Amino acid sequence: MGREAWPADLTLVRSPRKTISLHVSRGDILVRAPLRTPQSHILALIQHRLDWARERRHRYVAPAAISPNMPLLWHGETRVLGTPDCPFSAVPGPRVRDPRAWIRRQLINQYRTRALDYFNDRSAYWASQLGVQIGQVSVRDYRGRWGSCSHRGDLAFNWRLMMAPPAVADYVCVHEVCHRLHMNHSAAFWAAVSSLCPDWKQHRHWLHEHGSSLMDALPKTNE
Ligand SMILES: [Zn+2]
Repeated sequence: MGREAWPADLTLVRSPRKTISLHVSRGDILVRAPLRTPQSHILALIQHRLDWARERRHRYVAPAAISPNMPLLWHGETRVLGTPDCPFSAVPGPRVRDPRAWIRRQLINQYRTRALDYFNDRSAYWASQLGVQIGQVSVRDYRGRWGSCSHRGDLAFNWRLMMAPPAVADYVCVHEVCHRLHMNHSAAFWAAVSSLCPDWKQHRHWLHEHGSSLMDALPKTNE
């Protein structure tokens, strides 16, 4: 039996485990496998999911380095910081000790301010469409989620949704507002979401595909 070449774009992680798993994490495809399973056997088992994994990895956009003329996502479009059509500005003065960390902080603050305006407006609009009351709207720095709705009706949204196309941000808003009717993800809940946002599946799919790129944008500067 000849040894098949292991594909260069797959990272094989061996450990004392019993099963084989395939995982797309950021820009990498990770294959976890037991210590002694032959590579050809592993490949045969994951073959049918490789196209999906590669497709998914290609969609990942590595974060741009923080700089005074970095690209930024704004409502699904790329704008370049320091140019007139960029809605943000961050010009560090000469006394700023750590310009990159400073630019990052400024940008996040500006995204958050814009996100708060946006979600205040949109939440009020969708609540009136649905005929429900909502509490306080806030903006959060969630790492693993896009929004939330408390039992009191307070809504919170991830500021990073300002990087997504408006229809996607709006879907998250509709989703949270619909939790005022159903505090679950039942069929009745999704029917309410569909009534306000018929294309919600497409928007949820967009978040699955691009969410990690959004979460990783504006990385910490390590200083
Ligand atoms: Zn939900």
